[in-house]
Amino acid sequence: MSESEKPSQIGKKRSDENQPLTLPGIHRYQFFTNLKDRGWTLNLDRVALFGIVSALLATTLKPILRGNPATIYCYECRACYATQDKCPVGISLQAELVVAGRALDYDRFIRNGGLKCVRCGNCQSFCVQYLPLPKMFEIMQLETRQAILAGIVPQESLIHGLRQGLIGKEFIDDVVKAIS
Ligand code: SF4
Ligand code: SF4
Repeated sequence: MSESEKPSQIGKKRSDENQPLTLPGIHRYQFFTNLKDRGWTLNLDRVALFGIVSALLATTLKPILRGNPATIYCYECRACYATQDKCPVGISLQAELVVAGRALDYDRFIRNGGLKCVRCGNCQSFCVQYLPLPKMFEIMQLETRQAILAGIVPQESLIHGLRQGLIGKEFIDDVVKAIS
């Protein structure tokens, strides 16, 4: 192709500014280029970036808004499982409680014994981050209690928790009331 036949696009300002905005001050063609100009696969980097940012926001916003931001810092390394028989109520998967607190997953919290934690703090020294585990579990316990009273927690979780002895005495009355 000779020089004269090449499209002279470089340096040319695009004129389709009437395209919708995707973000304040950013038109769609600046974010997702027009398919007629570029193959759709060349937009995958933007799609991936958008997905990563959305996932990060979804993971971090909930615990921040619910007052349990420390859960974000858990590596899920499971070093806290070394607590073992030092937990007075026999909870063995502390990281599960942390992740349940981060995701506001009541069922996961109850099934792993979150409602029988007495917040003694014995597991904290096993955390590689020295996260305030008793405080984090307490916040999730209060959230779970509110959810139980609001009827949000599935009945099967509560029944399973009662049968397996996973409900601490502080929460028994609320759980029994919720399933009766
Ligand atoms: S704070 Fe809760 S999970 Fe940790 S050792 Fe004490 S009772 Fe067990
Ligand atoms: S040791 Fe700490 S950082 Fe690691 S999984 Fe347990 S709570 Fe999370």
